[in-house]
Amino acid sequence: MTPMAEKQKREDPERGERLRGLAAVDEVLREPAARELLERYPRALVVDAVRAVVARLRAEILAAGAAGEASAAQAADLTAAALVPWVTRLVEAAVTPSLRRVINATGVVVHTNLGRAPLPREAVDAVVTAASGYTDLEYNLARGERASRQDHVHDVLCTVTGAEDALVVNNNAAAVLLALAATARGGEVLVARGQLVEIGDGFRIPDILRESGAELVEVGTTNRTYLKDFEEAWTARTRAVLRVHTSNYRIVGFTAEPALEELAGLAHAHGAVLVDDLGSGALAGLPLFGEEPALAASIAAGADVVTFSGDKLLGGPQAGVAVGRAATVAAMRRHPLARALRIDKLDLAALDAVLRLYLDPRRALAEIPTLAALAAPIDEVRGRAGRLRALLIGGGVPGDRLELVDTVARAGAGALPVTEVPSVAVAVSVDGDAARLAAALRRGAPAVVCRLHDGRLLFDLRAVRDAELDALAGAALAALA
Ligand SMILES: *Cc1c(COP(=O)(O)O)cnc(C)c1O
Repeated sequence: MTPMAEKQKREDPERGERLRGLAAVDEVLREPAARELLERYPRALVVDAVRAVVARLRAEILAAGAAGEASAAQAADLTAAALVPWVTRLVEAAVTPSLRRVINATGVVVHTNLGRAPLPREAVDAVVTAASGYTDLEYNLARGERASRQDHVHDVLCTVTGAEDALVVNNNAAAVLLALAATARGGEVLVARGQLVEIGDGFRIPDILRESGAELVEVGTTNRTYLKDFEEAWTARTRAVLRVHTSNYRIVGFTAEPALEELAGLAHAHGAVLVDDLGSGALAGLPLFGEEPALAASIAAGADVVTFSGDKLLGGPQAGVAVGRAATVAAMRRHPLARALRIDKLDLAALDAVLRLYLDPRRALAEIPTLAALAAPIDEVRGRAGRLRALLIGGGVPGDRLELVDTVARAGAGALPVTEVPSVAVAVSVDGDAARLAAALRRGAPAVVCRLHDGRLLFDLRAVRDAELDALAGAALAALA
């Protein structure tokens, strides 16, 4: 607002009166309830909260439009005593950790905005151990000397992927960046035009590639690219071929791309490397993962580095895994960026535990929540939906408002974009505004994020675990009450 407009607004008699009625910061601080806050919390925190409340109300009064337009400031009591509860809420919110537990009733199993993969019990225990005391993170206890944090996951990664060498970093974007920086900095990298993926939130593989210090050379057309396109694009400066799994979309119909073996052969004939970014990198042998390129196939085809995420279909912590040939992985390990992109100890502890579950594929399926959620037979999901419905009826919701409906769940995080996972939801018919109820559910403890469809709330049970059912029912009953 310009100073002139602000002056005019202040001169509006009604507005002027409300501004004069708004308590001053000092006045609020003298209130008995505010003094109690000052005893419990640092003065600076309380004073900041009072200032924020007064400033917000002041701004609302100034911004209020023509008479009759409703606003919180117009409705509110503006005395010092009335402002204290707002201050209390702000102070309490400030000292409470921001990250909150959420029950994921969306049917999107690996939900990036909800933190991707929940960890199996073994990994949670490993994180607690690593977080609560000292560990042998970079220390060889047998020899009593310095070691690498990579040692904890190196061998198990080679075992479960069949690769010669392995390195883990902060996330898959970091793994791609490091692979290209270590192999192609100052040179050119060939990428098929149809594979220039935007990962999510506006982040794009071509931009990551440029940040590695290599130059992107697009090859072929959006739908069809042949080996000869790569051959023709090859120059004395070409250092690498990057194959990107189009993890979050599909180009279907009239398409072609060279086999990985051909790309590896071409790269190796020129002393260059083939980098294969798989995105999710499904290690589990679930039939559902049939659409995902197999990691072992990439290694067998001769890819020098294959990269994938720790927290997508692997079902582990945020991490980027790079496996492949010893010479290339060693170059990544030695690169200065490796230090900047290194995995933190809590994620490493979780990854260590998750990878060991993969040594026994049946255990992996049973105990890794992401895999269990995706692999659960539809009848198991239907049974869970039936139990939720019974809990809601037990809590007083009329049965005729609760219907079990067939839904389509998704793997999420861009993985398996065209795979529809059958699922079942409890659909709740509500009086009035379903969106308002959904908002109340999001503000609950635990928070619940569900779907809205045709004015009904849909609780999809594909990504909900049995152990969460009571809490989900409790939260739903509280919101419906
Ligand atoms: C998800 C994805 C990435 C990024 O992985 P993060 O672990 O989220 O950094 C990179 N490439 C592809 C193809 C992906 O699908």
